[in-house]
Amino acid sequence: MQTLPPVKRVIIAGNRRQQPYFKEIKELIGYLRQSKIEISIERRLAETLSPTGIDIADCRIIDTPDSDAQAAISLGGDGTFLRVARWIGPLEIPVLGINTGHLGFLARYTPEETRELVEMLKSGVAQVERRIALEVEVEAACEGPELPYALNEVAILKEDTSSMINVHVDIAGHFLADYMADGLLISTPTGSTGYNLSSGGPILLPTLDAIVLTPIAPHSLTFRPLVVSGDAEIEAQTTSRASHYRVSLDGVSFLLKEGSAVKVRKADFTPRVIRAPHDSFADTLRAKLLWGMR
Ligand code: NAP
Ligand code: MN
Repeated sequence: MQTLPPVKRVIIAGNRRQQPYFKEIKELIGYLRQSKIEISIERRLAETLSPTGIDIADCRIIDTPDSDAQAAISLGGDGTFLRVARWIGPLEIPVLGINTGHLGFLARYTPEETRELVEMLKSGVAQVERRIALEVEVEAACEGPELPYALNEVAILKEDTSSMINVHVDIAGHFLADYMADGLLISTPTGSTGYNLSSGGPILLPTLDAIVLTPIAPHSLTFRPLVVSGDAEIEAQTTSRASHYRVSLDGVSFLLKEGSAVKVRKADFTPRVIRAPHDSFADTLRAKLLWGMR
């Protein structure tokens, strides 16, 4: 675990559904200004804010993240947090998630905590956790995604509601299994509490260097989720009765031709997540997933 140095410039990014939180966003910008933290705002968020009268005249409006920022704030739910983390990508700028969305497992702080959070950024007490991300490579003949990275998971899914797919998996060049299922999740520890959890996969502590393979509705009694090393190179070739199958990176999907393969490996950058000094993963598990409740 590292400590975040005092922040001089912060990026604010977020989704367009901020209506109920304009007051808090105005306060956030005000506190940052008072703390002499310079602000860069992602253009689409800036466009949402400008008609509201929130003063952003002294903010930089950006289309790509600035490399001179020491932190980023994601305003939205977990989906927004994932998008912001993927956008920041190799710059490795630590991201703080303020939840103006729904569940908010990654976006774990609330708009009401804004003042304390700005204090934390200014004072250099915030903690920075490194996570692993996955990188996807598709066959040369196929068109891949714009951003080939996932912080939660790479989901290999059937394209429609019809028959199962067969996902033939090799790890480090050795055959592992043929998964006959609705899909296969290749998940990071961060993603382990997302789709992986709903599909019966294990929860992994988020800073582990590991990857978990969890089938979705496998047609077999013998499959169990499998945790492998973060360094494992996974090759998955998918065959189907349909002409295409779907690959989804943190919920953003594209189609590949039936019979083609994808390679999944750890990305060569590590996304960073900001957390308050006394906050723990177990607290989030209990608060958000009601873990251990009886
Ligand atoms: P979404 O449909 O809003 O996400 C489904 C739920 O998962 C939301 O409640 C979301 O929180 C939560 N979530 C996302 N990442 C999480 C994480 N790492 N730990 C715990 N909960 C998490 O779509 P989205 O917001 O764009 O998120 C994309 C992710 O949704 C995918 O990467 C996948 O993990 C997950 N997903 C889950 C299922 C399922 O459980 N059956 C199906 C498809 C996708 P917020 O409400 O705060 O956004
Ligand atoms: Mn969501």
